[in-house]
Amino acid sequence: MKYISTRGSAPELEFEDVLLAGLASDGGLYVPKELPHYSLEEIRSWRELPYSSLAFKIIQPFVGGAIDDETLQAMLDETYAGFGHKAVAPLAQLDHNEYVLELFQGPTLAFKDFALQLLGRLLDHVLTKRNERAVIIGATSGDTGSAAIEGCKHSKHIDIFIMHPHNRVSEVQRKQMTTILEDNVSNLAVEGNFDDCQGMLKACFANQDFLRGERRLVAVNSINWARIMAQIVYYFYASLNLGGPDRSMAFSVPTGNFGDIFAGYLAKKMGLPINQLIVATNQNDILHRVMSQNKYEKHPLAHTLSPSMDIVVSSNFERLLFDVYDRNGATLADLMSKLNSETVELEAERMAKVRELFDSHAVNDDVTCATIADVYQETGYLLDPHTAIGVKAARECRRDSMIPMITLGTAHPVKFADAVEKAGLSTPELPHHLQDLFEREERYEVMPNELKALQDFVASKVF
Ligand SMILES: *Cc1c(COP(=O)(O)O)cnc(C)c1O
Repeated sequence: MKYISTRGSAPELEFEDVLLAGLASDGGLYVPKELPHYSLEEIRSWRELPYSSLAFKIIQPFVGGAIDDETLQAMLDETYAGFGHKAVAPLAQLDHNEYVLELFQGPTLAFKDFALQLLGRLLDHVLTKRNERAVIIGATSGDTGSAAIEGCKHSKHIDIFIMHPHNRVSEVQRKQMTTILEDNVSNLAVEGNFDDCQGMLKACFANQDFLRGERRLVAVNSINWARIMAQIVYYFYASLNLGGPDRSMAFSVPTGNFGDIFAGYLAKKMGLPINQLIVATNQNDILHRVMSQNKYEKHPLAHTLSPSMDIVVSSNFERLLFDVYDRNGATLADLMSKLNSETVELEAERMAKVRELFDSHAVNDDVTCATIADVYQETGYLLDPHTAIGVKAARECRRDSMIPMITLGTAHPVKFADAVEKAGLSTPELPHHLQDLFEREERYEVMPNELKALQDFVASKVF
């Protein structure tokens, strides 16, 4: 399969190079040139498949021969065998036709494990084959960092550096990163906020001279296509478990960067009957403002109880706009340059297409806590704050009560004790494999909010 950039002037790449590239050279994001499409009959034939076999069906065409089938299947088996539930992505029922898809059964208790445990293995495979070494630098508000470290810690071909804002991630999140003591892992607690970390990350990608050209810098945030690809699978899985594709489903997706919900949009384009896709945001609601008022405008970052959705702009929205603008890279390059500097309205007919595809709802911290409390009272089921936003948006936006509504459960509540306590409930216990987390040895560097300090540290570790 070939991949093209959303801004139209970067070279077409094969899967391996997209995996290693991150951002395209024209500043765009890579997307598949053509999407596979499946008939209902074919999708129906996948009904009995366990998760990792279904993952193979969905992922294999995107990998396009870069990895032989047997190796790919083995990689998927190994990735999802590391999850704490045999169903990998089990469904919990809240009410008649209302479900949570538990995507937090992976080693770091958030949905990012689905993509990042696989990404680590894919990178390791490709780097081994090419006899290359790579450097990963990432910025995290919590969940991406731990999942990426967990996915890459065994690779002999990767050195990984994860920045988190000092004292601004939850204790469980920090410990999940800093208690991984492998030599190729460095945790950097930056004296700044998440935006500062992201700013330094962007600067590292823009000018890689500090690596003196000998190492390749690889991205692990959701601009990396391989992450989106892995996330398509669970939409099919959930649907097949509830009678799809012979019934349509509705999904509500807690999102910040538009990564997870974009995967749902692709599942629909690939032939899965999806009746409704709901964009659920917190107070950082640029996506909701675009969808409800056609106003794309940056607001300052708000720190919320759902920190993994605290964003100013949604980078993957560009991938949707590319389709909405009929895949015209030149038009999109022009639009994106405006989006980052001024308030923009989309043309009415383009906006109409977006609205046909998505509903949206924004949920503030108070309502998030009230939802956690309400659902606990109704069912005894404890939601994490991100998932609670999804459930609330689902209840507000639902169009047809006959259609199963599935909210993506993006994190385990134990990761976000603050919100659970504010909802008046007590924090649940850590799952078995993390019981001794608080006693484990930690290692991290506190680092000033300065690009040079970061780059000097990386250079000193890599050589
Ligand atoms: C990352 C994350 C999200 C948002 O994911 P997107 O890629 O922005 O769609 C939601 N919930 C949790 C718990 C996360 O870690």
